[in-house]
Amino acid sequence: MLILVINCGSSSVKYQLFDITGQDYNRSLAPLAKGLIERIGRASSCRDHYAAINIIVEKLIDRRHGVISSKSEIKGIGHRVVHGGEEFKHSTLITKKVIDSIEKYSEIAPLHNPPSLSGIRGCAKILKGIPQAAVFDTSFHQTMKPEAFLYGLSFKYYKKYGIRKYGFHGTSHRYVAEKTARKLGRSLNSLKIITCHLGNGCSMAAVDRGISVDTSMGFTPLEGLLMGTRSGDMDPAVILYLLKKERMSLERMGDILNKESGLLGISGVSNDMRDLVKTVGRRPKTRDRKSARARLAIEMFVYRIKKYIGAYQAAMAGLDAVVFTGGIGENHPWLVRRIENDLKNVVARRTKFLVIPTNEELLIAKDTYNVVRRNDAKS
Ligand code: ADP
Repeated sequence: MLILVINCGSSSVKYQLFDITGQDYNRSLAPLAKGLIERIGRASSCRDHYAAINIIVEKLIDRRHGVISSKSEIKGIGHRVVHGGEEFKHSTLITKKVIDSIEKYSEIAPLHNPPSLSGIRGCAKILKGIPQAAVFDTSFHQTMKPEAFLYGLSFKYYKKYGIRKYGFHGTSHRYVAEKTARKLGRSLNSLKIITCHLGNGCSMAAVDRGISVDTSMGFTPLEGLLMGTRSGDMDPAVILYLLKKERMSLERMGDILNKESGLLGISGVSNDMRDLVKTVGRRPKTRDRKSARARLAIEMFVYRIKKYIGAYQAAMAGLDAVVFTGGIGENHPWLVRRIENDLKNVVARRTKFLVIPTNEELLIAKDTYNVVRRNDAKS
């Protein structure tokens, strides 16, 4: 069954086309086609997400370079949707009601949900009649208990505005947790795993027997680890203090926390781990400011990961495996070795440290396949 996976960002759309024939999670299927449309809204050839979806479909059915001969060969479309609130605990068939809910959660995910909605609406027009599924970043973490997901704020704000920890990167955490079990030859139901998704955005999850019991991102993706440009955890009073001292707008404060902090803000060099490693490596002995700050950013990054490993080991009362994924997790083996070495006297001797490349698109395709099959069976 041909499944098109669509991942809409504010100015880009990533796509992959898979041929899913079964539910076997063992198989790491390669996509039949994949690509990225960038500069949406900035290039005259691609005004909006609707135009981007059109370009993708034209590419797929192109006579010379395409991989299918007509749109109707696509039997399902899976969308990555960042925020599904408390409503979506699983991937779901997209209906008018589901669209309304995704729209409702745009208020708490203003940067992420609106592009997904544009993609969903674009596909509904361009690929009319083909069932669409929404696969939410938040769903996997909906198993957290109130003691893990509530903040120490007055309870009325949870009731009034849904202020709580939701967690993100759920598809990636679920994928690598399942892969870890397979790699260790064990059942997921018997394992306590910490998954570390380290990309530009970074988050960790405590996965106890297949269930997410805690995760480092929160109400938004700003909480938790030090990230490429996001601050991660800090005393919220710092924000009040800065707002007062610098008399800045809320928008400016948002930019500082989301775009100018983290690895970039500390190092003053880059948000990219490759650049930091290069900067430190070039002058390992010198004390110049650039390399010292790059080193400090890396140390903060590593320290916080170790702190969360300790916390999640305690939360699960045990630890069988720590798995690293994402651009940093997959490509910087020194980081995994360093953390494993630093924690060798902290974790049990049986605890494994692994690197597993994530594949969120494949999991979205498989979920979409299941949603479409269930829908077919009903009708
Ligand atoms: P995103 O979170 O935007 O999907 P990635 O998962 O690619 O991005 O993560 C970006 C980070 O991963 C950067 O800090 C970069 O240094 C690192 N990274 C990505 N690919 C590589 C690579 N091939 N080699 C080394 N580092 C990489």
